[in-house]
Amino acid sequence: MPKILDGNRVRDQILDGLRPRVAALTSAGRTPGLAVVLAGHDPGSQIYVRNKVKACADLGISSRTLTPPDTISTRELLDLIHDLNEQPDVDGILVQLPLPPQADTRRVLLAVSPEKDVDGFHPMNVGNLVAGRPGPRPCTPAGIMELLGQYGIPVAGKRAVVVGRSDIVGKPMALLLLHAHATVTICHSKTSDLAAVCREGEILVAAMGRPALITSEFIRPGAVVIDVGMNRITDPAQARRIFRHSPDRLAVLARKGSVLVGDVDPHDVDQAAAAYTPVPGGVGPLTVAMLMANTVAAAERNAERRAAPAVC
Ligand code: NDP
Repeated sequence: MPKILDGNRVRDQILDGLRPRVAALTSAGRTPGLAVVLAGHDPGSQIYVRNKVKACADLGISSRTLTPPDTISTRELLDLIHDLNEQPDVDGILVQLPLPPQADTRRVLLAVSPEKDVDGFHPMNVGNLVAGRPGPRPCTPAGIMELLGQYGIPVAGKRAVVVGRSDIVGKPMALLLLHAHATVTICHSKTSDLAAVCREGEILVAAMGRPALITSEFIRPGAVVIDVGMNRITDPAQARRIFRHSPDRLAVLARKGSVLVGDVDPHDVDQAAAAYTPVPGGVGPLTVAMLMANTVAAAERNAERRAAPAVC
């Protein structure tokens, strides 16, 4: 197993697997369609949406971005979602989070038709995940499972520790590892002696949003470490500490004024782990690839439903 788990490589494999499926749908007159709702002007969200739209274009998926103002009300967002639910050429609906503060995120996500929920956030799809039934899975954890699979990393019977319990990453990650027969521990901000619990992990997934918090004392020697964290830091002193052995990363800070770091200390993980995902180039590319996979799968199900004769 190579030490660095290359998310870009696995992303390309996932996308290559999707190309013939997109071509088959397109030649049947059913080009997959994704609608992205981007409310407001969050700069991070704008970058994420741009990447998603670009991935759609590269694959031949038709995409449309709706950009309501950041003053939009919950009611208006619900109307917009209901309208997209009704449109037959829209196979997937993605509501980019965070929504503006006045919008009720839970109600908006609940309004997305479960069949068009390409993020896997709808409670019905969460239920399918918990029960191990088919359905769209949240993109980031699903991408991590693909990566483990592509690199032939065994999961069954392993001790897995997931740090973070968000609905988007931590919880679904833990459930997917559980369904793959790992013995899973979930940690969070109230976990006592986090380092000791993390050291039990043969597979350690860090999804906290805390720059380089996972240092050598958290890493079991020989573990597989998956770093989900995406933290943009601007403080030169903090960057010098974290990137003490990576002049190239410090050069990024000098050039751009900020530099990306995961939740795992890049030097310590390189010393202790058997394999790990780098930041950038690890988990990030997989998330967009799995969004494409969920959109294509939704389009295939939609095409099947429309081809099936109506039952009276
Ligand atoms: P959230 O803020 O929703 O959740 C963070 C979780 O980490 C919470 O459960 C929190 O615990 C826990 N946590 C925070 N601080 C600590 C700590 N000191 N010790 C232990 N646990 C802690 O974040 P997300 O799950 O949405 O995202 C996590 C990270 O992953 C972020 O950096 C985000 O940018 C990144 N991300 C990356 C993606 C990618 O494509 N690479 C996609 C999605 C996210 P508690 O519940 O107790 O508050």
